[in-house]
Amino acid sequence: MRVRSIRLLASVVLVGALGVANAADAPPANPAGSATTAAGAAPAGATAAQFRIRPVDDRWRADLPRDPDAATQAYLDRLPADVVARSNAYFEGGYWLQLWNLLLGLAIAALLLSGRRSARLRDWAERVGRKGVLRDAIFAAVYAMAAWLLSLPLTIYQGYVREHQYAMATQSFGPWFTEQLIGLAVSMVSIALVAAVFYAVLRRVGERWWLWATAVAVAFLVLSVLIGPVLIDPLFNSYKPVADGPVRQAVLTMAHANGVPADDIYEFDASRQTTKVSANVSGIFGSASVRLNDNLLRRSSLPEIRAVMGHELGHYVLNHIYKWIAAMALVLLAGFLFMQWAMTLLLAALGARFGLRGTSDVAAFPLLVAVFSVFAFAATPVTNTITRTQEVEADRFGLNLARDPHGAAEVDLKLTEYRKPDPTAIEELVFFDHPSTRFRVHDAMRWREAMGTP
Ligand SMILES: [Zn+2]
Repeated sequence: MRVRSIRLLASVVLVGALGVANAADAPPANPAGSATTAAGAAPAGATAAQFRIRPVDDRWRADLPRDPDAATQAYLDRLPADVVARSNAYFEGGYWLQLWNLLLGLAIAALLLSGRRSARLRDWAERVGRKGVLRDAIFAAVYAMAAWLLSLPLTIYQGYVREHQYAMATQSFGPWFTEQLIGLAVSMVSIALVAAVFYAVLRRVGERWWLWATAVAVAFLVLSVLIGPVLIDPLFNSYKPVADGPVRQAVLTMAHANGVPADDIYEFDASRQTTKVSANVSGIFGSASVRLNDNLLRRSSLPEIRAVMGHELGHYVLNHIYKWIAAMALVLLAGFLFMQWAMTLLLAALGARFGLRGTSDVAAFPLLVAVFSVFAFAATPVTNTITRTQEVEADRFGLNLARDPHGAAEVDLKLTEYRKPDPTAIEELVFFDHPSTRFRVHDAMRWREAMGTP
């Protein structure tokens, strides 16, 4: 449940145009795959089951076994087999989509570099922009548009067709596509800015560019955390204060008990894009903004909302943003070192053929993005584990704060709608940026047993 705008700008910073296509997707932008990956699973499309959970009452919860394993299994057994099959198919398809996105990105880089298209685009940008900084910005903006266009078919499948097949999208094509265009505009501006700064620094620092590139990337990450909730998120959704009542009071009470400086909580109309439940707490340098989506408000009980918001407040109180940026700085450092090594080799082999003058030549930007996307793909288990570790911490903080393990477990069940509930350990390590339903319910049931609550 991390802020979309962070993902958006992070993807711009990290993976350049590869991230552009998915930038405007709904919260966990991890839409998933095809029926081919789901051997024996329920078919997607019109015949797919609606998401549902077998309802229970407080009596059922009180009668659950004290043993965490048994209680967890009882919770998971409330998910109908067809619902689990559909969730598995949706989520496992996402594994394949990660691969298809990588391969498409590499193909796009090859297309742009071959026939010296990229070099010619640089020459044109040089005539139009003259100065280095302006030339690089113009090149990057055009590149972002080209990459967006070339990846559009996969974007439409992944972000629109497939989300409708699984009955999670709520938009018709027109509004959806309009949001893609807004995302494109944001990406063009962001990538132009990043490229202009990145190459200006690169031209001055020589061999040590990987160190400086890391500093530039971290600066942009911080910037995105600052401006994302204020400038980017409102482009896609409208935010309004939650009306006074039990939900607002409960969330503000938990916030104030933990020193979170929030006087209001906000709801946003995520239902215009998706059925998924989500929430976040954003803010950095002493500000805080607590935000719930309307699906969560509409589909959840007060104990469930308290559990979710206890988790979100945990992210804030535990300073997860700062720690995440610090961890990403190390990943980026490794990435840029890898890029320096790979770019040296690739430019020696292919530079002349493609008309590239060196790493600091903006015409090599598509090659740079391709190399980084390979690194980012290979580093996915690491970055997922960084995020997932924080999510587990936030879960435990939320349990201690909301003190209602059943509220947490009920929401965990609901998240099965878009996340495979019961993966193998290795699968969870590699592919999951949030813990699975089984892991999270087990945490809640362990808390219940240890604390002796009903
Ligand atoms: Zn979270």
